[in-house]
Amino acid sequence: MIKNTCPQCESELSWKDQGYFCEYCQQKVTKTAFCPDCSEQLEKLQACGSASYFCNYCNELKSKSRVKIVFNKAED
Ligand SMILES: [Zn+2]
Ligand SMILES: [Zn+2]
Repeated sequence: MIKNTCPQCESELSWKDQGYFCEYCQQKVTKTAFCPDCSEQLEKLQACGSASYFCNYCNELKSKSRVKIVFNKAED
C-alpha cells in the first residue's frame, strides 16, 4: 500500500476536487507515476474501476505495485 503524503510536511493527504490536498499546508498536491524500468512518466489508465499504468517508452503496462509514485506541490 502506497502512502499518500505531502511532499512538504509529510502529513497524510486527503482527496479534494479530483485531486490530493494537504489540510495542513492548505496546498494542492499532484501525484505522478514513473516507470520502475526506464524512469519515464507513466500514463494512468482507468480500466474496470481500477487504475493501471502504461509506459509509452517500454510500450507495456506496469504493475501498480512496482511504479514509482512522486508527489509534488501543484502549480496554480
Ligand atoms: Zn503538507
Ligand atoms: Zn518504461
